[in-house]
Amino acid sequence: MFKFVIVKLVVFLCISCASHTEQHKVNIHNRLLTLDAHLDTPALLVRPDFDIMQEHSHDHDFSQVDWPRMEKGGLDGGFWVIYTPQGPLNADAYKSNRDTALLRAMAIQTMVSVNPDTFELATVAEDAHRITNIGKKVVYISMENAYPLGEDLSLLTTFYKLGLRMLGPVHFKNNQFGDSSTDPQGSIWGGLSPLGKQLVAEANRLGIVLDGSHGHDLLLEDLINLSKTPVILSHTGTKTIYDHPRNIDDTLLKKLADSGGVIHVNAYSAYLTKLPNNPERQKAYQDLFEKFGRNWSTFDTETWQALKQARYQLDKKHPAIKASFEDYMQHFLHILNVVGPKHVGVGADWDGGGGVVEMMDISTLPLITERLLNEGYSEQDLADIWSNNVLRLLKQAKDYADSVN
Ligand SMILES: [Zn+2]
Repeated sequence: MFKFVIVKLVVFLCISCASHTEQHKVNIHNRLLTLDAHLDTPALLVRPDFDIMQEHSHDHDFSQVDWPRMEKGGLDGGFWVIYTPQGPLNADAYKSNRDTALLRAMAIQTMVSVNPDTFELATVAEDAHRITNIGKKVVYISMENAYPLGEDLSLLTTFYKLGLRMLGPVHFKNNQFGDSSTDPQGSIWGGLSPLGKQLVAEANRLGIVLDGSHGHDLLLEDLINLSKTPVILSHTGTKTIYDHPRNIDDTLLKKLADSGGVIHVNAYSAYLTKLPNNPERQKAYQDLFEKFGRNWSTFDTETWQALKQARYQLDKKHPAIKASFEDYMQHFLHILNVVGPKHVGVGADWDGGGGVVEMMDISTLPLITERLLNEGYSEQDLADIWSNNVLRLLKQAKDYADSVN
């Protein structure tokens, strides 16, 4: 009997000890300043039915970021993206996409201005700590695809004045600035185009961090060689774990880190591991797009509700096949092994297609911290990963701009 009591006591102590340790890790996560380098949520801000202050559920509407879930997942903010899909390279298209990008920037500004006690626009590295210390969320602005700048680099100043501090030249296809990693044509410029090289100089002059995600390997090499300040990959993985054009190999990874750059690890399932084909789902999505069209920006609330409902039903019938959290962490841990915690961060592509089983929205972010602590990384390493590294790049970009202006 006595022995039984002892065993029970030891079991109880172990359980309470384990939960104490888990709580300790969550506490560490909560006291870190946490920034994600690539939040695609501004694409939702322009929808009539989306309120950033309300809690949503990914199962229900596929969204992954809002203020209540930022609180739950201990996310202090990040880079909110002005994204434009690649379109034709001509003056009319440049003009209309410029306007779309300006409206996206305004949507971010509006999110901040209508919720002044919750969000604050950040433009320099020091802003992040100041803003979190007063209990608000940090809103840096970045641009994914410089396409809407057309051939008028003076527009970059306009976006800089609107708060832009990070810029990726390309998206899925080659454009006027350079080569994409996923254009079926392959490289046409050999990296950056002549205009792309001018874009780098202009971004440096203004103090905007250059982002090589989506860029062809040759474009990333050009960025590393030409940029006066270190380059970021805001959402990218490693080819060593899964050989996909959106990921980079260890040689380029080391080159990025040697030049002071940082890679933020992407959680986009199709780039993390080989997923089985899902033809029924693909067909169902094709039918859905045929029915509703793709001009989502013109939808009224009713059409949105109908589309949301149809997507919800489709997802229940043909669920998406996602990579696992472990697949994500394999990328994370390999990259950490190669370049160390001073050159790594988190950029999970939330609201842009990111998310893995167990981590489908930002409310589960403490899982990353917990896993890295279990792997032996220290609280200081975690502080670097979650924000110090990207803030260092911002500061270097600004210091350079101050030195030349
Ligand atoms: Zn992307």
